[in-house]
Amino acid sequence: MASKIKKGDLVKVLSGKDKGKQDKVLEVFPDKDKLLVDNVNKVKRHTKPTQGHAGGIIEKLLPLPAARVRIVCPACKAAVRVGFKTVKDKKVRYCKKCAAVIDK
Ligand SMILES: [Zn+2]
Repeated sequence: MASKIKKGDLVKVLSGKDKGKQDKVLEVFPDKDKLLVDNVNKVKRHTKPTQGHAGGIIEKLLPLPAARVRIVCPACKAAVRVGFKTVKDKKVRYCKKCAAVIDK
């Protein structure tokens, strides 16, 4: 199955502590069905001081399940489901709400 969400897409979070947030997909992990979204699923990690490193609190982004986000359609600006269709022998994604083609 082709991936519905790709790196660089704008997505909206549907559930969890970051519900309602919109940001860009930084990385996709198709084998795990997870993705990394900018500013979403941020956790704080305490690091111990090491040689040459002061230690302290660092913020890290964790991948979240792809099912928890939906793509934001560039045309109608809604969080939508996408479908696939073939245009000029190329498989493209389209918005199931307004039918706009998402891939250029
Ligand atoms: Zn749309």
